[in-house]
Amino acid sequence: MTYDPTNIFAKILRGEIPAHKVYEDDTALVMMDIFPQSRGHTLVIPKPASRNLLDADPADLAAVIPLVQRVAIAVQTATGADGIRLAQFNEAPAGQTVFHLHFHIIPAYEGVPLAS
Ligand code: 5GP
Repeated sequence: MTYDPTNIFAKILRGEIPAHKVYEDDTALVMMDIFPQSRGHTLVIPKPASRNLLDADPADLAAVIPLVQRVAIAVQTATGADGIRLAQFNEAPAGQTVFHLHFHIIPAYEGVPLAS
């Protein structure tokens, strides 16, 4: 599978369409999910042009995972969540809908079921 630079996250990274950004540096953008699965659902989007985990450069992954941890801790602190789900999907049959690598940080709350 090839990388299609017209995907929505590539457009957001290029500043062509707006997003609720909460953090950005040279390596990644962090933004709120437009259709949150729970309160505080946040996306970490590495900037390199990877379709998903399967074609990502290991060096890019090594650079972004500490940020994923920092965002998970920050989201847990900000929301008071009782747990954090980390999700990441590869190709449509696995649930991927936007074909630029991203990580979901999904807060979980006692007594509030998450979608499976
Ligand atoms: P996937 O299923 O590909 O792992 O998840 C893509 C995620 O991107 C979904 O949770 C969806 O709600 C979110 N999303 C899709 N389009 C946009 C958008 O234009 N802006 C933002 N902030 N999130 C989006």
